[in-house]
Amino acid sequence: MQSPNPSSSPRLDDERRQNFIAATMSILAEHGYVGTTLARIAERAEVSPSLLVHYFGDKDSLLGAAFWSLSESLWREILRRFATARDSRARLQAIIDSLLAPEQFRQREGAVWLSFWGQVPYAPTLKRIQHIYQRRMLSNLSYDLRALVPAQEVRPLATAIASLIDGTWLRAALSEWQEANSAAARTQVTAFLDSQIARHALTDLSPVPIPQTRTEMKTCHNWIDGQFVTTNGPRFETRNPATGELLAEVETAGKSEHTAAIASARRGQKVWSRMTGTERGRVLHKAAELLRRDNAELAHLETLDTGKPIAETSTVDILSGADALEYFGSQASSLSGESIDLGPEAFGYTRREPLGITAGIGAWNYPIQIACWKSAPALACGNAMIFKSSEMTPLTAVRLAAIYKEAGLPDGVFNVLHGAGDVGKRLCAEPEIRKISLTGSVPTGIAVMREAANTLKYVTLELGGKSPLIIFDDADINNAVSAALLGNFYSGGEICSNGTRVFVQSGIRERFLSELKRRVEAMRIGDPLAPDTDIGALISASHLEKVLSYVKSAINEGATLLTGGKRLTDGTFSQGAFMQPTVFVNCRDDMKIAREEIFGPVMTVLDFTNEEEVIARANATEFGLAAGVFTSNLARGHRVVAALEAGTCWINQYNITPIELPFGGYKKSGLGRENSRAALEHYTQIKTVYVALGDVESPY
Ligand code: NDP
Repeated sequence: MQSPNPSSSPRLDDERRQNFIAATMSILAEHGYVGTTLARIAERAEVSPSLLVHYFGDKDSLLGAAFWSLSESLWREILRRFATARDSRARLQAIIDSLLAPEQFRQREGAVWLSFWGQVPYAPTLKRIQHIYQRRMLSNLSYDLRALVPAQEVRPLATAIASLIDGTWLRAALSEWQEANSAAARTQVTAFLDSQIARHALTDLSPVPIPQTRTEMKTCHNWIDGQFVTTNGPRFETRNPATGELLAEVETAGKSEHTAAIASARRGQKVWSRMTGTERGRVLHKAAELLRRDNAELAHLETLDTGKPIAETSTVDILSGADALEYFGSQASSLSGESIDLGPEAFGYTRREPLGITAGIGAWNYPIQIACWKSAPALACGNAMIFKSSEMTPLTAVRLAAIYKEAGLPDGVFNVLHGAGDVGKRLCAEPEIRKISLTGSVPTGIAVMREAANTLKYVTLELGGKSPLIIFDDADINNAVSAALLGNFYSGGEICSNGTRVFVQSGIRERFLSELKRRVEAMRIGDPLAPDTDIGALISASHLEKVLSYVKSAINEGATLLTGGKRLTDGTFSQGAFMQPTVFVNCRDDMKIAREEIFGPVMTVLDFTNEEEVIARANATEFGLAAGVFTSNLARGHRVVAALEAGTCWINQYNITPIELPFGGYKKSGLGRENSRAALEHYTQIKTVYVALGDVESPY
């Protein structure tokens, strides 16, 4: 790899950048956003404007970097104060004190913050930074409020505190800093917090009753016919991959649990399919509300079971599951067939009917979200579902089952069976089950389809990928780097649609790599339960070994390690499956890391020169789950995605999967689609009815 700037060391580069950012802040404070020009900043920094362009690209990118640096310095200050905070209450105080500290809450700082916030609606880069800032703030506040107030009060209270702080800043700015008294502001917000804690301390702090409490979770039972069922058969363990701690012993579903689940699903589905779509939708809406109510607790559980950062599980995993329930709850009442005119003697109509009993089989990376994505459309259409979670992450699917029950779902409509592949295999072989929806690897997909063929079941397969992320010379570099980070390191890289083959056009390569390296190395690896952790633990030690074997093979095949590559074993990392986010450059398409799905935090950067070449190379894979294109030329963006063989494509974005859009793969990445109205097709069958209006004409 060529160094981005051979004459200067990375440290010197960093210092220079910091100087430029400091100059930007002081110009912003004096001249506001519009008056801040590259020429003024360059003059203040005593360099030429072209040097600024060399480092940052353009004014927007420079201001984005300054905004990011400002919000990062604030977070550093909060973290510094966290170090001496003894408990949740003290950590909340640390947040309030940092945000309203005398050295922060001043006209100069206020002017800079307001310049940025005022521009957020018009500048996507700033919008993204503000979004991250707000999400972090809410997840930090929520994390500590959980220990002090009932679960359902956590989010509203976190939002109220954040709004109070923002409002205090705004009032100070509007009064031209006449009303900016740091001590008084802190006292006011603190008093509000204490009054809320005192108010809720009078109420019962135990979680809203759900049949299975955390203590009972030490044994995780199967859920059949609206209740936990105890079995005496074999058990397996589920452990926290960050600490090795035993979370629960899980009871395996044997043949008798399978038979009981089928019988109960048969009964439940009869009741459920006779309810109207509006009634079914009402239950799904209620369950979505309950998932949101229990978000904090479920996110905690999901983080323990998967090792993923709480910052992710508390903002994405459960809430995106709730979105699915809400979306399909709304679709339930509008399911309909068609009426077809056949002339004066007849007409026809179609009925969209449920399949009956369906099965969902989940992977371990998004356990509760997968359970929601599968069950919501199945249930909306009037089916019953038997769900088998991955044996690595069995804890939250049964919580979803309990929530469904609390929401009013008839017993038997959603059952959960625990166990390994053989439990899934039994579901695939079961004649009464009419459809299997699997999220898993390609070999499992093939095995499932083969087994399902014996009883001619429908299958939806959401399988693996090795997706391309293509970055053209004219891309917005900050956005492209952000996408590459999200598309490789979010959830520790354990995401099927990740853009793990990052194709970078030669003209942008050096800038892209230097920015990428800087931002990867700033990522925080740590305790998944700490709110500021970016990268938690991988799912297991054996999976970590597999990921590390790819690192070894990349080095053996001649790739250059840009950063990362190591397992972390010191101190708190010693018992967990932690590794550094890893980037390889100087890679070739024929290398193992560029061909096989790794499912871990390993990015492969590949160089390219032209559009035709990169399309051919991007498509040269057996997978076809997803793809991304970054370019400022929209015509090219559309042209390239039209040529890509992938089920989901993003232009200037990566890994966003809103429930309203279909999701699924081309080629070996799968069959069928989840999410959106397309999913409804996969959970219903069409009955055709011919209605004669005249006599039967017969030649006999
Ligand atoms: P696996 O394929 O190993 O397992 C998926 C599920 O299938 C598990 O519950 C597993 O049980 C079960 N299973 C295994 N063998 C059989 C069988 N013969 N019949 C029926 N069920 C069986 O995948 P992972 O759990 O390791 O998940 C990682 C994979 O999932 C990756 O390839 C990833 O790309 C893919 N994935 C795809 C997504 C998509 O939407 N396209 C999303 C997320 C992940 P158990 O593990 O308990 O033994």
